[in-house]
Amino acid sequence: MRNCLTVDVEEWFHVCGSEGPLAFGRWNTLPSRVVDTTRDLLNLLDACSARGTFFVLGWIAERYPALVAEIVDRGHEVGSHGHLHQRVYELTPESFARDLETCRAALAAAGVRDVRGYRAPEWSINGRSLWALETLARAGFTFDSSMAPMRIVGDPDYPKQPHARSTSCGDVMEFPPLVDRRFGQNMPMVGWGLRMTAPGRVIRIIEDRNARGIPVALAVHPWEIDPDPPRVKLPPAKNFAHYFRLGGFRRRLERILRGATFAPMGEVLGLSPLST
Ligand SMILES: [Zn+2]
Repeated sequence: MRNCLTVDVEEWFHVCGSEGPLAFGRWNTLPSRVVDTTRDLLNLLDACSARGTFFVLGWIAERYPALVAEIVDRGHEVGSHGHLHQRVYELTPESFARDLETCRAALAAAGVRDVRGYRAPEWSINGRSLWALETLARAGFTFDSSMAPMRIVGDPDYPKQPHARSTSCGDVMEFPPLVDRRFGQNMPMVGWGLRMTAPGRVIRIIEDRNARGIPVALAVHPWEIDPDPPRVKLPPAKNFAHYFRLGGFRRRLERILRGATFAPMGEVLGLSPLST
């Protein structure tokens, strides 16, 4: 069974809600790492014969269109991570639609016209922003991967497998990130939760879901495999999410990628292959 390896293509400084050294007004002054780290991730996927879905931030596509073109040329799917990395529940339906449109224009300028999938920054489509699914459907998106079955960012009661969400503008397929039941909670198999879990265990969880006919989605960021990530002082929860157990993650990710089969999310959901 094919599973999804998803990548949120953003800089190390794209931390939701950050003020101070990582505030929006400083982004253009901070050292860029995204081209090298995304290329390294592309090389890793090639080495493991894995194909994935890259949810690219429009701000990145505007600055590095050649990187976006390379992602497509190397056989992967490109989706939208929005334009300015804002949490959806902090936007209005109108400003969310504008953010999607600006990102779509940046991706089109980089040569990607067929964008079907969306991933919200910080899994921010939840009970505070369910209206966003209708905005996505109206904007022509067919799938979304932004609703996490986890506490704090999402809701532990959300479905753990791909499912359709109805809106007045048509259905959107929702593909939640993989979680593992541990310590009485749904532990994310993305971000810090994926980094702290032994590859053998991740592979067993994937095999268990696949045996029940359920494909899974993992999520990583280019900055998680940066061999020398810039360090800034963040509040404790953000510091943990961004810096916990980065060491050796590229090697552990390689073991996971070799332990299961990965294809673009659109294909796993049964959509026709992209024409670009
Ligand atoms: Zn992000």
